[in-house]
Amino acid sequence: MSDAAKGTPDSLGSRIRRARALIRDPSALPVVPLVALMTLTTLGPLAMLTYESVRLSSEALEHEIEGRLASTAEVSAVAVGERMEGLAHVVESFAGRPSLIRSMSRRRIDRAEILLHLRELRSLGGGLSVVFLTDRAGQVVTLLPLTPALEGEDFSFRDWYRGVMSLRSRYVSEAFEGAAAGRPSVVVAAAPVRSSAQRGGSRRIIGVLGGAYDLTTIKTFVSRFETAYGTSLVVTDQRGVVVAAPEGVPTLEKLDDELVQRALAGGSGAATRDGVLYGYAAVPSIGWTVRVSVPATRALSGIREIQFGVYLTAGVFGVVLILGLIVFVMALRRLAHERNKSAAILASMASGVVITDPYGTVTAVNPALEELLGMSGGELVGRPFWDVVPAFDSDGGAVPRGDRFITTALLSGEVVHSRGYDLFFERRDGRRVPVNVTAAPIVDANKEVMGAVEVIRDSSVDREIDELKSSLVSTVSHELRTPLTMIQGFSELLMKESLNQDQSREAVEQIHNSALRLSRLIEDLLSVSRIESGRLRVHLQQVNLRDAVAETLALFPRQSARMEVQIDEALAVHSEYDKVVQIVTNLVSNALKYSPDDSIVTISAERDGSSVVVSVRDRGIGFSEEDRKRIFQKFFRVDRPEVRKRGGTGLGLYITKGLVEAQGGQLWHEPGEGGGSVFSFALPVSMGEI
Ligand code: ADP
Repeated sequence: MSDAAKGTPDSLGSRIRRARALIRDPSALPVVPLVALMTLTTLGPLAMLTYESVRLSSEALEHEIEGRLASTAEVSAVAVGERMEGLAHVVESFAGRPSLIRSMSRRRIDRAEILLHLRELRSLGGGLSVVFLTDRAGQVVTLLPLTPALEGEDFSFRDWYRGVMSLRSRYVSEAFEGAAAGRPSVVVAAAPVRSSAQRGGSRRIIGVLGGAYDLTTIKTFVSRFETAYGTSLVVTDQRGVVVAAPEGVPTLEKLDDELVQRALAGGSGAATRDGVLYGYAAVPSIGWTVRVSVPATRALSGIREIQFGVYLTAGVFGVVLILGLIVFVMALRRLAHERNKSAAILASMASGVVITDPYGTVTAVNPALEELLGMSGGELVGRPFWDVVPAFDSDGGAVPRGDRFITTALLSGEVVHSRGYDLFFERRDGRRVPVNVTAAPIVDANKEVMGAVEVIRDSSVDREIDELKSSLVSTVSHELRTPLTMIQGFSELLMKESLNQDQSREAVEQIHNSALRLSRLIEDLLSVSRIESGRLRVHLQQVNLRDAVAETLALFPRQSARMEVQIDEALAVHSEYDKVVQIVTNLVSNALKYSPDDSIVTISAERDGSSVVVSVRDRGIGFSEEDRKRIFQKFFRVDRPEVRKRGGTGLGLYITKGLVEAQGGQLWHEPGEGGGSVFSFALPVSMGEI
């Protein structure tokens, strides 16, 4: 890519590119990932926290419920135990009645007396369906309700008999199907009847008093617990055989359950199995067990409700938060968009811009200002503008802070401009740049001054243009005046005086030369305008250099003796003949003009690769290093008496350079060896030559 296509460093395109590079494209603000990120960072931990605390509290509650079930089981066990023990106590107290003992120990058993006691026991016992008394060997003495068929029956095989005999104390039996009418399911509370006579310190067992307790009565008792605690209760006897249970669990059958086994072994506790929460305990002293249970769904329904509530609240909160985040990010995006838009406008401006706070401290600058002052934004921002950028007037005096335009804008609240070329800002490298500034206050809705903005333009180009304009006017008017005066003078002479033939010829020649000079000036001005507007056309052809140079020299017949030509006859360039003549003419004319009248001007040409280099060397005044840099500028003339003496516009070299470059060549200049100067131009060698 050529430099022209890339654009100069100051072109709008490059400024916009710089602005883009400085400011991130606002539409690139990624809403979705940003919201997702914010959601993850805020909602993620929140959700985890909620979940974790709900889980922990649920766990704690489940634990608590299990604990309660265990204690319910304990309480039930104690209640069942007390009930049955109480019964055994009553039986035991009856068994200890002396009159009952007496009625047993007489030689003849006093049945009537015994029945009196049995009746009383049955009515007091609280639910005893059958009461009976056996003798020492387990044969029924009598029973209530009276069942003669059973009297004399041997019941020594019964658990209650064996229990009492082995413990030698009161005993609550296993559950069994009773022998009484209707064969009810029962347990028996039994106690030994002992003789009153003391032999060897111990009282002999002379019979067993027992009361059968109907299991339906236990069930009723148990169901009261069920209602009170909202749980199901299973009571087993010492073998694990069900004594009381809710519907569906058969009584008098062994319950094959691990928890019951644990309770039988004396343990108590709680467990969760197949969605059911259990509590179990051993009934103290009688060896029975109690197992309470409740479906987990029912037990934990409260927790589930709380969980649901918490999750719902957290969900709603989350949704609201996400919506809030979206709105927030959108607003952020709009804000960024607005901010970036203003920043982009600022950054793409060709003029420097500085923004200050109400105290003149720099808050923002744009790249154009950084470039103008040769400073980075970091060096400017945060410092008082007048300190960091000193200003000077055209005499080099420092502009005091109070007279600075930005100060005026801040204090007066009005827009102020600089005029002319009297203001200079000092760059970081110490160079002073002429500037034009406009300072305006930044006011809020209440007309309060919140700061100021100053737009700064480098006015050196304007200055140059203005200078060029005045040089154009002065040069052109001067160059016009000289030939016009000549024409005027000689034409008047011709009109008024009677001149001889030679004099007339001389006058006409002068008029003619002046006319030529005028037309050259016009031609020069037209060339400048063509060069600058890019309208300079060239018709490339093969140009023989010797021919072109010979034609040029013919234009200076009087100075032919001063000119020396060193050009190979065959040398040709790919160029336009007339333009080559014009180029050589301009250079030769200068060489003759700016060198002593008797000095030699050499015109030479030689092949250099694919170009031909033509040089015009004089032994004249040359120029200083300083002037050398400006020699090809429009209207530039060296400020020396030798130059001023000779007429000229300062356009010749500018046009010559334009003509050479329009043909794909180059023009340059070097000091001549031993004084004078050498102007050389290179043009492409003609195709025929290669
Ligand atoms: P002009 O000759 O009309 O002044 P030019 O553009 O041809 O304008 O030249 C510009 C200036 O360059 C001249 O005024 C002169 O000061 C300087 N100059 C040009 N050619 C020579 C030279 N051969 N030797 C010394 N000075 C020169």
